[in-house]
Amino acid sequence: MTTLVIAEQRQGYLSATVPHLIAAARRFDETVTLLVSGERYQKAVSAVAQLTGLTAIACHSTPAPYSTPEWLAEQLAQRVTAGHWGQVNQIMAAASPFGHAVLPRLAALLDAPLVTNVVAIEDRDNVTRPIHAGTVLATVRLLRRPRLLSIRSSAFATALSLPPQLLWQGERGSDSKERPDLLTADIVVAGGQGVAASGSFALIEALAQQLGAAVGASRSAVDAGVAANDQQIGQTGKIIAPRLYIAVGLSGSLQHLAGVKDAGTIVAINHDPQAPIHAVADFSLVADLFRAVPALIAALQRSAFRPGQGHP
Ligand SMILES: Cc1cc2nc3c(=O)[nH]c(=O)nc-3n(C[C@H](O)[C@H](O)[C@H](O)COP(=O)(O)OP(=O)(O)OC[C@H]3O[C@@H](n4cnc5c(N)ncnc54)[C@H](O)[C@@H]3O)c2cc1C
Repeated sequence: MTTLVIAEQRQGYLSATVPHLIAAARRFDETVTLLVSGERYQKAVSAVAQLTGLTAIACHSTPAPYSTPEWLAEQLAQRVTAGHWGQVNQIMAAASPFGHAVLPRLAALLDAPLVTNVVAIEDRDNVTRPIHAGTVLATVRLLRRPRLLSIRSSAFATALSLPPQLLWQGERGSDSKERPDLLTADIVVAGGQGVAASGSFALIEALAQQLGAAVGASRSAVDAGVAANDQQIGQTGKIIAPRLYIAVGLSGSLQHLAGVKDAGTIVAINHDPQAPIHAVADFSLVADLFRAVPALIAALQRSAFRPGQGHP
């Protein structure tokens, strides 16, 4: 009996969510089979080999034209049904765009139940997930096997660590600069409609660059076309848990805040003192963002702060 963990990798680098997924899988007290799939997976495999306590590693080469969620789900369904990995009781992936593209398709093919955004595994049959935009936690009882789970990696602490050079470090912003991955970043700077009104996210990207932070957005900023879909934070976007979250020119709607419930320190920059974001912020700056953010960037440039050397 095993728990199958589908690892996300890009260009041979493993997602930082993988050690957290393994920590979650171990809660079931069964063997853990880690599946690394993709066209260039050798680097990821060598990273996996350094993880201890895994009973099996299934490596699977996917030719580039077929490495789609549809193709992967079909391959996995065939192998799970054929007993390729013995009896698979749980199948997990991160609660990320990748996981949420593969798991529903796999659930349909296997006619198996899927629970998304799992934040706790109570015991073999009971898991916890947020509902109503994160205001309530629901315990879901799963009686059928296999069951599929998308896991919020930030909810599962891990003692496993992988060498940073084997992990996928980030993405490129519209300014072509490297950025940390939004899901696992230590610092996130997010912009909302207030920023989008200027027609560009350049200020947010400049502040993020200065802090070595990932860039996030409210749905309004995404709808306005200044931020990408995969930068949206919230109920229908990404759920993040950075140590520092800087919200710029966004109001703090219930749907947006559902994505930052696990953030450490929250800083709000908003010129409306009544904006709901101020009620959840640890530090509030009631100011015009087009004055405050350039001043903050200039102050950071003058200070000794460098990304990766602790918080400002
Ligand atoms: C089913 C559903 C799901 C949703 N999911 C999500 C989701 O996942 N994520 C999400 O973000 N939203 C989501 N939304 C949308 C959500 O309800 C809000 O509409 C959205 O979050 C608002 O974005 P905003 O805060 O950027 O814009 P606004 O609410 O318009 O806020 C803009 C803020 O910027 C401030 N501001 C403006 N100009 C300046 C300035 N010059 N200086 C300083 N401050 C300034 C204003 O005071 C205001 O508070 C969802 C909605 C629904 C119905």
